Amino acid sequence: MKRIILILVFCSATAMAFSQQESQVTDTAWKHIYRGTYPRINDLVNTKLSVSFDYDKQWLYGEEWVTLEPHFYPTDSLILDAKGMDIKEIALMKGNSKTPLKYAYDSMHLRITLDKTYKGGEKYTLYLKYVSKPNDLKLPGSAAITDAKGLYFINPKGLTKEHTEIWTQGETESNSVWFPTIDKPDQKTLEEISMTVPAKYITLSNGLLIHQKKNADGTRTDDWKMKYPNSPYLFFMGVGDYAIVKDHYKEIAVDYYVEKEYAPVARKIFGETPAMIGFFSKILDFPYVWTKYDQIVGREYVSGAMENTTATLHQDGAYQNARQLVDGNEWENTISHELFHHWFGDLVTTESWSNITLNESFANYSEYLWREHRYGKDDADAENFDEMQGYLLSGSSDKDLVRFYYKNREDVFDAVSYNKGGRILHMLRNYVGDAAFFKSLNEYLNLYKFKPAEAQELRLAFEDVTGRDMNWFWNQWYYGSGQPSLDINYDYQNGTERVIVNQTQNTGKIFKLPVAIDVYSKEANKTRYNVWLDNPSDTFYFASAQKPSLVNVDADKVLLAIKNDNKSTDEFEQQYKYAPNYLDRREALEYFAKNNSSNLSLGLDDKYYGLRLLTLEDLDMNNGYSDAAVLKKIETMAIKDPNKKVQAKAIGILAKVEDKKYQPIFQKYITDSSYSVAGAALTGLAALDPSQSYALAKKYSTDALGDLGTEVSAIFMSQGSEGDFDFLLNQFKKEPVGQDKVISGYKFANYLIKVNDPQKVREAVDEIMKFRNQIPEKYRSYIDPGFKRAFDNISAAQKAKGNTELSDYIDNLLK
Ligand SMILES: [Zn+2]
Repeated sequence: MKRIILILVFCSATAMAFSQQESQVTDTAWKHIYRGTYPRINDLVNTKLSVSFDYDKQWLYGEEWVTLEPHFYPTDSLILDAKGMDIKEIALMKGNSKTPLKYAYDSMHLRITLDKTYKGGEKYTLYLKYVSKPNDLKLPGSAAITDAKGLYFINPKGLTKEHTEIWTQGETESNSVWFPTIDKPDQKTLEEISMTVPAKYITLSNGLLIHQKKNADGTRTDDWKMKYPNSPYLFFMGVGDYAIVKDHYKEIAVDYYVEKEYAPVARKIFGETPAMIGFFSKILDFPYVWTKYDQIVGREYVSGAMENTTATLHQDGAYQNARQLVDGNEWENTISHELFHHWFGDLVTTESWSNITLNESFANYSEYLWREHRYGKDDADAENFDEMQGYLLSGSSDKDLVRFYYKNREDVFDAVSYNKGGRILHMLRNYVGDAAFFKSLNEYLNLYKFKPAEAQELRLAFEDVTGRDMNWFWNQWYYGSGQPSLDINYDYQNGTERVIVNQTQNTGKIFKLPVAIDVYSKEANKTRYNVWLDNPSDTFYFASAQKPSLVNVDADKVLLAIKNDNKSTDEFEQQYKYAPNYLDRREALEYFAKNNSSNLSLGLDDKYYGLRLLTLEDLDMNNGYSDAAVLKKIETMAIKDPNKKVQAKAIGILAKVEDKKYQPIFQKYITDSSYSVAGAALTGLAALDPSQSYALAKKYSTDALGDLGTEVSAIFMSQGSEGDFDFLLNQFKKEPVGQDKVISGYKFANYLIKVNDPQKVREAVDEIMKFRNQIPEKYRSYIDPGFKRAFDNISAAQKAKGNTELSDYIDNLLK
């Protein structure tokens, strides 16, 4: 599963649902509940479903034939997860005849008494008939849940303009809302799903579509079948009026299921998928084993994306039009992430949620691997840096990577399992070397394919391949928490360079770290030393006839650590110019920015666009463009930089200068295909002539997303009228949930004070509340006062117009 960025900041909506569910457990009781391997009493063997849908009631009518066998010990009973269903019939199948079985049902679990005691490996098949009612689902002691419904009907009656869809979301244990199963990741079962749907819709599920049959009542029945075992949480169904855009990797079908409007851009969004399949197969020396790979986009999908085997579901953030894609494909990391799960997660599956990093660290690291291959090491290293920051800012340095104690199972889908896990894999790769790293992964995949695994099994694969003991690494990084804080100091005396590295973390834990140190004599001439840190303070001595021009600790820039590197400006200048890595240059530029060094402008010529962009942002922040030569350089970038984001930032800086001589640049680029570039140009024109800004915003509002949409909105909200309502509401709806949207929400709410039409105001405050309710409760005390102030003003304005019903409604929203 891929969580969206905001989740690192705001946590997850799913987690909210479960914290309600388990709130009976007192706050600290979970710290004593060990979450180990799920007991395997009965094992799933084959799951055959036949389902149809009631769009009016939002129900699923299901029949299931499930074959099981006792795992090892004999048993005469079976417990299935089945959440909030109406159970109509449970029977044992013998040939074609059914023998009813006794069972008890508490709306969460079915406790079934079998007809006899079955021995380990002795198969039996049950028949179940049931009705699934996801919207009525209530977990014990909680209100109806919204984010673990398993089965979702989107605009089922077609009452709004939204695309009518059905899709499912299983992880963690929500698929048992729509079929009774043993809903644990250590189960694997063959799978057949027959879906009967209105004939106008297409269906999608795991595996291959093997048969279609038109029915007399205007429906069609599609039969899907998986050739290989699949975990229940990876079962998927999707239904809707989708365009299927066909693609392939060798003989494997790779199709994209999108709304018809997006069919022309589907290959631009998803088109790297076949190349990714080829690349991942090659580095792992392990083919993509599944029979096909489909990707579908779901509206109102609560997470980022989900790696349902051969049928990945993406949220609608994947939808980008051609102009958005000019600025870069925002969804490429997610596409890579979900695909890589088809080796790590779907093929070898974590045996428990405690070990979820076996799925998620790899999916996370695949984003690095793909970017390194496709866009080069600088780009991948930028990704590595961002992911590391995501972890360090998440405040979770007290959480183990493999987590046997957690409050609820959704909690483990966090910056530790994902971001930190990915960085740990990066350090591991650096330590053992590329060949051993990928060989170890290959061995792990071969040993545990179609099976569950735990983190120790990954360790054993690395030990087997490398011949090295890896306990220290696993104990420190997998079964431990936190990261080192390193204070790095240098001293040169009498032909010897001393490097002193102190571990200053206050946890009392000392990390054992293999570290490369490069000692530079002049310019790019350097000698590499490989050392170990494993004391509170380590000192290394390097003989050198003259003071080294630079000593670069962590020379490969792989450490997951907080570093305080006490270098001089001259040394950072050497580092910027001669050390090879993205982070070498980034650290130097950050030092220059912090110390107001004119060296910062070196970054304007960086070969990597991300560092040119960073330099512009830092110059902008420091007013660093007041230097005429620097400004001239920025002007050139505004016209010539090959990267649209960099060009847009350069134009944005020129806009702040408010000099008429830049007007032709703004004029030229306001029609640029990139929304970022056009948005910056609009800002520039509006600043030069505020009296024209509203007319300009109106003119370009017909096709305005991204930065252009934000700029148009800003002008509309300050100068616009009620007539701009539809644009602003739409803009607000489309903005991804995140911290920026809080600010947009405040501005939008303040604009609503000017809106008279009570129906519009009601629609807009509902939309704001919908967003506000997506934010976990713990953050609401920070964000609510801003909304409350604006709502009070909207309410007063409506009251003054005599709309007391609406003003009362608004008053009650944030009571
Ligand atoms: Zn994932």
